Amino acid sequence: MEIKKGIAVSPGVAINQAVVLDAEDYRIPLRHVSPQRIKQEVRRLDQAVTRSRQDLAELRDRARRRLGSETAAIFDFHLALLDDRSLQNKIRKLIRSDSVTAEFAVADVLRGYAKEFLQMPEYLADRVKDVYDIEKRILRHLIGQSREDLARLEEEVVVLAHDLTPSQTANLDRRHVLGLATDAGGRTSHTAIVARALGIPAVVGLNDVTASVNAGDTVIIDGNRGVVIINPDEATIRQHRQYVERIAEFELSLDRLVNLPAITLDGHEVVLLGNIEFPHEAATVIAKGGQGIGLYRTEFLYLGREVEPTEEDHYQAYMQVIHEMQGRPLVIRTLDLGADKYTQERSPVPERNPFLGCRSIRFCFQNLQLFKTQLRAILRASLQGDLAIMFPLITSVMELRQSKMILRDVMEDLEEEGIEVRRDVPVGIMVEVPSAALMCNQLAEEVDFFSIGTNDLIQYTLAVDRANERVAPLFTPAHPAVLRLIKEVIRAGQRHDLGVSLCGEMAGQPEYTLLLIGMGLRTLSVAPPAIPEVKQLVRSMTMEHARRVARTVMAFDNDKQIVSYLRDQSRQVMPEAY
Ligand code: PEP
Ligand code: MG
Repeated sequence: MEIKKGIAVSPGVAINQAVVLDAEDYRIPLRHVSPQRIKQEVRRLDQAVTRSRQDLAELRDRARRRLGSETAAIFDFHLALLDDRSLQNKIRKLIRSDSVTAEFAVADVLRGYAKEFLQMPEYLADRVKDVYDIEKRILRHLIGQSREDLARLEEEVVVLAHDLTPSQTANLDRRHVLGLATDAGGRTSHTAIVARALGIPAVVGLNDVTASVNAGDTVIIDGNRGVVIINPDEATIRQHRQYVERIAEFELSLDRLVNLPAITLDGHEVVLLGNIEFPHEAATVIAKGGQGIGLYRTEFLYLGREVEPTEEDHYQAYMQVIHEMQGRPLVIRTLDLGADKYTQERSPVPERNPFLGCRSIRFCFQNLQLFKTQLRAILRASLQGDLAIMFPLITSVMELRQSKMILRDVMEDLEEEGIEVRRDVPVGIMVEVPSAALMCNQLAEEVDFFSIGTNDLIQYTLAVDRANERVAPLFTPAHPAVLRLIKEVIRAGQRHDLGVSLCGEMAGQPEYTLLLIGMGLRTLSVAPPAIPEVKQLVRSMTMEHARRVARTVMAFDNDKQIVSYLRDQSRQVMPEAY
């Protein structure tokens, strides 16, 4: 039995057999398979070799046509190496004799070849790069295959992977994937957000969990405590099953809150909204007692599909959510593509620094047609419900003006076509970049509302990549610099009589509820599973206490002190959750 500690990102506990996915650019760990699987591994190897051969023949022919026979000869060498009988036999032999995965055998044998080349005279030593190339090519096919297989699972499993993109996570078959654990990732990475949206218990940032698990091992993924247990003994499994029952009881006890308001003991009302990624989650928001949707991440319409959604696809998705909301408020955020979502996976030349690159509203400005298609659909739906539009990643007043100008253009186009739209549809922005937080007074003059996006605000304020497990301990909402920016935005809202909500993951972490309410926020938008617990906390506290907590916290100078103080205060308010 081995216990690994990571970052809890999606609640729930799963106990099942493991499927393990490797990453092509990552060291392939030694992983054994059962004797019954050996034949299958050899078959996978043969398929990957055949596909690699097809790639190479195509590349060679194209190179010959465009670049001449000298360049094409490189691929001839790759083909000759790939078809070398003794190489293939060595790989097969290793799979059979040591019962290892095809991935491990390919990496092991080809690394051995590379070493031999390195010891040869200089003109041959150069060939080592070709060997690495072949290794990567075969691995790519092997790994691609197992990722495709994931969509066609026939039994229940837990998935362990080095990393998954948000699209790959969105494509997981929920009926069969009961839990997810990855080496990489952070609490607010979009992969984590998707796992939460799909209701799959998940732990990320485990560093090397994939190296410790073999396919078929039993694994417990505890998405509440951020723990993964490999090959647990009977007593541990029993303990966890009991723990699952206790959680279910606690959740059931919160169900009674569904129709009750989020109101403090001294009568101050807080509006609790839900964050969604997929239209089907709208029903979950209501079922959990949310009063509307404060953030609809519409870019997830793009994830997991080969062709761009049409205006009609957008419109149908929005209408589905509007229908579910039955007059409750809905904030549709325009496309936040780029960074880790969608565009990099498809780009022939990925950006060096995608979170600082062509992301979000910048991507929309550079892909105007795509942006206008979405705006048309939102505006067409604007008269059907209580709908507001929110622009993401605004960094300046000029960017806001440009976004609004495009929105107006689209309105005029629709009206010219005889389509009626809501002219005064509320328009707001995400405040998720320090420049926007610092300019909040100017921005407040030109919007109807703010929503504070702490996931990005933290990463851009503290220079900490939200998806990088190596710096995960530095990613904290409790840094005094982040809290000061939040405070400024709340003040600007009060000064300009503007609605301000907070929709970053922080809003769903109960240890921050007292602080956020005490700082003056009256609307929180959180992942649907977090609604009941946050509501319970609001209903158990007084505004006077919350304000005192906020005052005390603002006087501290470091996050450690703030976190421990907040835990302590929250425990006093709701001991049953701690
Ligand atoms: C945020 O940045 O806090 C946010 C809510 O947006 P996203 O997580 O989609 O980047
Ligand atoms: Mg964001």
